[in-house]
Amino acid sequence: MIPNKATYRTTPQKKALLSLLRSTKAHPTAAWLFDRLRLEMPDVSQGTVYRNLSVLAEEGVIRVLRNGSAQDRFDADVSEHYHVICESCGKVEDISVNVRTDANSEAERASGYEIHSHRLDFYGVCPDCQRRAAVGDDAE
Ligand code: ZN
Ligand code: MN
Repeated sequence: MIPNKATYRTTPQKKALLSLLRSTKAHPTAAWLFDRLRLEMPDVSQGTVYRNLSVLAEEGVIRVLRNGSAQDRFDADVSEHYHVICESCGKVEDISVNVRTDANSEAERASGYEIHSHRLDFYGVCPDCQRRAAVGDDAE
């Protein structure tokens, strides 16, 4: 148990933010969550949303998908799974490929580290963007 966990409070804003994130499979950014939450709670501030997101992540209730230079995205599904990212429209989706449970021990053998986790992201062009590109080609 991390001692300061006990100091985390559950506020109506935090609760609403979590249920909002749980209601979507879109792996939204903080800005998207703020815009949506504002419709329910006009008085909520951007700072509150950002702060609650880091608290929820620290509590292990949500997952942060750090995306290089792009904005972080958030996921209420904390089970082990991978993502596929569209290089054209930027959407992030769950991908149902088997989690490589052997990868951590392989990395331990290779590095001498005690490995806790790994990440694996897939990049490509989503079916919608493939279709849009095909339509665009026809129009030319
Ligand atoms: Zn796309
Ligand atoms: Mn996910």
